[in-house]
Amino acid sequence: MLDVSGLSAGYGQIEVLHGLTFTVPKGQVVTLIGSNGAGKTTTMRALSGMIKPRAGSIKLNGREIGGLESHDVARTGLAHSPEGRRVFPTLSVEDNLTLGAFPRLTGSRPKGDVNADRERAYTLFPRLRERRTQLAGTLSGGEQQMLAMGRALMLRPEILLLDEPSMGLAPKLVEEVFRIIRRLKEEQVTMLLVEQFAMAALGVADHAYVLENGRIRFQGPAAQLRDDPQVRAAYLGGG
Ligand code: ATP
Repeated sequence: MLDVSGLSAGYGQIEVLHGLTFTVPKGQVVTLIGSNGAGKTTTMRALSGMIKPRAGSIKLNGREIGGLESHDVARTGLAHSPEGRRVFPTLSVEDNLTLGAFPRLTGSRPKGDVNADRERAYTLFPRLRERRTQLAGTLSGGEQQMLAMGRALMLRPEILLLDEPSMGLAPKLVEEVFRIIRRLKEEQVTMLLVEQFAMAALGVADHAYVLENGRIRFQGPAAQLRDDPQVRAAYLGGG
């Protein structure tokens, strides 16, 4: 499904990622964990074309997508729900969702029924249905986070990248976000997840990679990393 090999990327003169190799198999949830500044968000940005890889390869279903512009990456079926709730503030909730399907409609992937997909998003996030005509910029932070996830799902993604989907949310909403991630997993949505709540991420993931200073330090089945005392002490704060 997603095969990343020797990926290096950074900003200006600074190289942040130094040759990452990892895979996300079809239908699985893979999580990247690591301390602040390890390069998790940078990895997501490099995968979705927001920044250009400097070396290495990124293959989605065998096709090289490294170096494509982000809108072309989206057309191949990689959806990125970025850190920090990027929604179109002056458009309604409904229009934000509809726009999420746009790269699919202009690409070579199956077009499908956008109205049915929007219904599915509203079923997952009933709050968005209640607010369908409201301007996205006036939603609460948690609602914007849900809209960002809902919009990413409108792509019917081959793979969904979720960067800190619970950031800034009240505890009840954090639970809600993890409930939705579990439900998507049951529906066999392939996901790459970055989360501040590493224990919760390991609880839902199949496999995990630990990033340290832009390199993969450990990897293994999520359950195994969750029980590893060294990993717990270093990255999970015992929590
Ligand atoms: P966190 O858990 O704090 O979000 P992270 O693992 O996601 O951390 P990144 O956001 O990928 O880490 O940052 C990795 C490194 O890249 C950091 O040293 C950061 O300062 C740097 N960096 C991130 N974004 C930029 C940018 N736009 N320009 C320059 N440097 C950046």
